[in-house]
Amino acid sequence: MNGWLCIAGLGPGDEQLITPEVSAALADATDVVGYIPYVRRIAPREGLTLHASDNRVELDRARAALQMAAAGRKVVVVSSGDPGVFAMAAAVMEALEGEPEWQRLNIRVLPGITAMLAAAAKAGAPLGHDFCAINLSDNLKPAALIEARVRAAAGVDFAMAFYNPRSASRPETFGRILGVLREVCEPGRLMIFARAVSTPEEHIQTVTLAEATTDMADMRTVVIVGNSATRRVGPFVYTPRSAV
Ligand code: SAH
Repeated sequence: MNGWLCIAGLGPGDEQLITPEVSAALADATDVVGYIPYVRRIAPREGLTLHASDNRVELDRARAALQMAAAGRKVVVVSSGDPGVFAMAAAVMEALEGEPEWQRLNIRVLPGITAMLAAAAKAGAPLGHDFCAINLSDNLKPAALIEARVRAAAGVDFAMAFYNPRSASRPETFGRILGVLREVCEPGRLMIFARAVSTPEEHIQTVTLAEATTDMADMRTVVIVGNSATRRVGPFVYTPRSAV
């Protein structure tokens, strides 16, 4: 059986930010599986079948991909950014649980440039000291846990990157998160709203916590909150590497 499965990251948008390893896997593949907007980024070619699906069925999508690989297909499951960051690699691992035959397949996770790192690079070096990444979507965890994690991270002065900050189905979450930040951090704390990084729609805005409003974020935005030492230097924002 020659089938294989790669779970690959397509980076934040710009083709130049796709790794050669991912390009090679795509060039070899017979099937590409993923959420509609990500699959749309793959150029159609003869011998390649594109399977675009809705975002809410990650486990089904992972199982379908594993089934195809088990049947001898060469399958790439695509995610934006990095496949291990709030994306398909964990969904495929979950689908492997209790499936010893699938566990013996040729499976590789191919990293990509995640949104927060692409955004940080555009801004300067806001993640130059300790930081954490928090998914603000409450699809897979309770809203109270998200707020508790933001409060705890801000309390020990982590810089933070927020993924999925705001969606039409839960417009109030991000407002509550701003409220938590305003309780814990000083009003001058720097925040970067980085939208559609490395695409033609890219928009990057640095504001203070006092100036931040909920409408600065949408589902194409990653939000970086600096730590208490994060500052501006010329056109850049950076966080010094030392905490003393
Ligand atoms: N696996 C992806 C994250 C998927 S979650 C990664 O590693 O980047 C989807 C969230 O990622 C979006 O809501 C947004 O917060 C962020 N995101 C993805 N691409 C982005 C881009 N080009 N610019 C800004 N944020 C992006």
